[in-house]
Amino acid sequence: MKAAVNHQFKGKLEIEQLDKPTISSHEVLVKIHACGVCHTDLHACHGDWPVKPKMPLVPGHEGVGEIVEVGDQVSHCKLGDRVGIPWLYSACGHCDYCLTGDENLCLSQQNAGYSVDGSYAEYCKADGNYVVKIPDGIDYVDAAPLFCAGVTTYKALKVSTAKPGEWVAIFGIGGLGHLAVQYAVAMGLNVIAVDTGEAKLELAKKLGASLCLDFKRDDVVAKVLAETGGVHASICTAVSKSGFEQSYKVIRRGGKCVLVGLPPEDMPLPIFDTVLNGVSVVGSIVGTRKDLIECLDFAARGKVKAITIEKSLEDINDIFEEMINGEITGRVVMKF
Ligand code: NAD
Ligand code: ZN
Ligand code: ZN
Repeated sequence: MKAAVNHQFKGKLEIEQLDKPTISSHEVLVKIHACGVCHTDLHACHGDWPVKPKMPLVPGHEGVGEIVEVGDQVSHCKLGDRVGIPWLYSACGHCDYCLTGDENLCLSQQNAGYSVDGSYAEYCKADGNYVVKIPDGIDYVDAAPLFCAGVTTYKALKVSTAKPGEWVAIFGIGGLGHLAVQYAVAMGLNVIAVDTGEAKLELAKKLGASLCLDFKRDDVVAKVLAETGGVHASICTAVSKSGFEQSYKVIRRGGKCVLVGLPPEDMPLPIFDTVLNGVSVVGSIVGTRKDLIECLDFAARGKVKAITIEKSLEDINDIFEEMINGEITGRVVMKF
């Protein structure tokens, strides 16, 4: 099978022929039809984070396709089912986190395209218990981004506890952020979008953001405070420390700053302001299978639709280059 393989941090990915994975009894084999390109894949191939991925690595955790082989212990899916293989490739199912609905925090989890090979390949194996079915009516290209960008931002909005009619500021209108705007609008929130360049801000406006700010041109913090008196929540998907600093400064008293983006930097946190303003700063990591099912349902009901740019596996190095330069509006999905 054809796959894109990373052999060395910051090196180019190679398109190679690999053996088709063989499955064990609890696994399924998925023929991949499409896979979104997440900024996390770029962090993985650059070795950006303290925990390093396997190497060589087949990245990809927004892979979707049809099941073509089923292990004999797998009961909840069958041949021909349309499924996706998310970042949460598997969890232990037995720890405190798994038992209390926080399987995304399981310490024994495996991650697709990071600790195990992912979906930048024609076939990918998966744990039969952790693949999630794609509802009818969503095609593969539209479904792919929901398996990370969608579920992550949907979950982050739940973590924010912002309620209908309240203000939420989304920092970074990239693959994640453009879906965050849509989920927030669908939840009845008033949305402020922050990124740079006309294309991304126009898109945010079209998707329902009330106020769109350019972090290179506008005084973002002053404008948000003037418009809202401080937002009830901010969701930061920006891959930049300054975006995180601003996402903290726009919060009203008692509000929540939800950290989602993963630049390999620290964020300074003023103790005095945090205490006096009663602000919460909270991390949010992808979502559970249940979050994923809910987030897919929004799409199935036509409330959310990823803006996709179709490419092929051979384009991956160019796609990464465009991502580094911030040139992608929406989500690139490689179609197989
Ligand atoms: P992306 O490249 O598609 O989008 C990032 C966007 O941030 C770009 O549009 C860029 O212009 C914008 N940006 C950069 N600096 C900014 C600033 N100062 N203010 C506002 N916007 C700014 O990336 P993506 O795929 O959306 O991923 C974003 C980040 O989220 C990555 O770090 C990724 O690893 C992380 N991520 C986290 C989770 C999680 O579970 N927490 C899941 C998926 C991705
Ligand atoms: Zn991702
Ligand atoms: Zn567990």
